[in-house]
Amino acid sequence: MKYFSTRDKSLAVSFSAAALGGLSADGGLYIPQEIPSYTPAVRSSLGTMAFIDIAFETIQPFVHEDIPDSVLGAMVESAFNFSAPLVPVDDRLVLELFHGPTAAFKDFGARFMARCFSYLRRNEDRELHILVATSGDTGGAVADGFFGVEGISVTVLYPQGRVSPLQERQIAGLGGNVAAIAVEGSFDDCQRLVKSAFVHPELSRRINLSSANSINISRLLPQAVYYAAAAGLAKAGHYNEDLVPTPRLRGKSHEQGVLKSGQLGKEILFCVPSGNFGNLTAGLYAQAMGAPIAGFIAATNSNKTIPDYLASGVYEPRPSVATISNAMDVGAPSNFERMSSHWTYEELRNNIMGFWIDDTSTKQTIAEVFDRTGYVLDPHGAVGWAAVDRWLSQRHSSEHRLAHFSGPVAVLGTAHPAKFSETVEQLVGPVPVPPALAAAMNRTVQARTISANVEALVETLLSGRA
Ligand SMILES: *Cc1c(COP(=O)(O)O)cnc(C)c1O
Repeated sequence: MKYFSTRDKSLAVSFSAAALGGLSADGGLYIPQEIPSYTPAVRSSLGTMAFIDIAFETIQPFVHEDIPDSVLGAMVESAFNFSAPLVPVDDRLVLELFHGPTAAFKDFGARFMARCFSYLRRNEDRELHILVATSGDTGGAVADGFFGVEGISVTVLYPQGRVSPLQERQIAGLGGNVAAIAVEGSFDDCQRLVKSAFVHPELSRRINLSSANSINISRLLPQAVYYAAAAGLAKAGHYNEDLVPTPRLRGKSHEQGVLKSGQLGKEILFCVPSGNFGNLTAGLYAQAMGAPIAGFIAATNSNKTIPDYLASGVYEPRPSVATISNAMDVGAPSNFERMSSHWTYEELRNNIMGFWIDDTSTKQTIAEVFDRTGYVLDPHGAVGWAAVDRWLSQRHSSEHRLAHFSGPVAVLGTAHPAKFSETVEQLVGPVPVPPALAAAMNRTVQARTISANVEALVETLLSGRA
């Protein structure tokens, strides 16, 4: 499998080059030259295969020229050592993607990417130094994903005083090969510093710098896995019982909505709370490979660039606005370039329905769903839930291909509600903290503080103090 830049399809590179390079030299994103198909045997057994076997079958055709099967097998086994249960809540399913170490779905991508980097650089003796700027969530997942990975060190820059206490401990509490820098400034300052570090002549001569941002193809591919697994499971008429503690304060899952017999054997509709649209793009890949997925709802907060595009056909990126589902505060979603490079507007519009939800409705949804079911949504999942409600209430008056869809509907739970307790607890009361987050809360923050200028960053990096 070769990879092209979204901007120049004549330049083909290997998976290794695409993953380690991140962004193509022309500024485009890497996409696979084609999306492979599951074999009929795999396709018909998605409902019974183990998650890591589905992971292997999903990722292998994209990487087999660079990663031998035995290595890939070990990689997926250690990266995905937590589950992604599909649980029934009320009239729908929630695909809980927050049982990893940082309690958000970004663990899937970050943990796989870290293992990829480590393997693909096995013959390099120069250490790789990954520099990331974070507004909160990504930094924790990247720090955790690369923690203890040999030959790679990580420095995370975050805006001092502007991340939650939990996020700060996730970023700056690990130590070891993960260093943290608190920047006296905003997230934009952090991003600016990282960008200037990459073009700083002395720094790039002395330190082998790389990035780990969300457009990396090796972060995207592993996210296709949980779509295929959940779609297979639902088609077989199953869902997961409470194998892992789900954020439900009252009631038991099996007392509530079960897959109705009329839904058996049907394709699933996924509702994806979206910001940069990496997660949704991964779902499109799983569907194109042959996973039984009928289509998607793209749910955004007030940053509604994509719902507007789906309605009008005109893509108008804009500055982001702040919301309570802040991991989705993206006005210019970078993966749009990938989506629109694989599919035409017509194809995207037929396959994806867009809805946007404001903060007031998001809060109402958290409170209402809790009152009715005892299930606690985080603000991102609540945007997804509310988007499904909106679709259900107006679909019969729409002309969309999916207007009469009658199969199972699953909302992606992208973060554990305890991660956003400031918002959620005001609406539902105390939320139990999962073990991974409780462990993180006990860590001590070890960060250097610098002023928001590139010389301060360069000095800290060169002195080896970060
Ligand atoms: C990153 C993130 C999202 C948005 O995912 P994209 O792939 O950027 O669309 C949604 N929810 C949570 C909790 C996130 O951390």
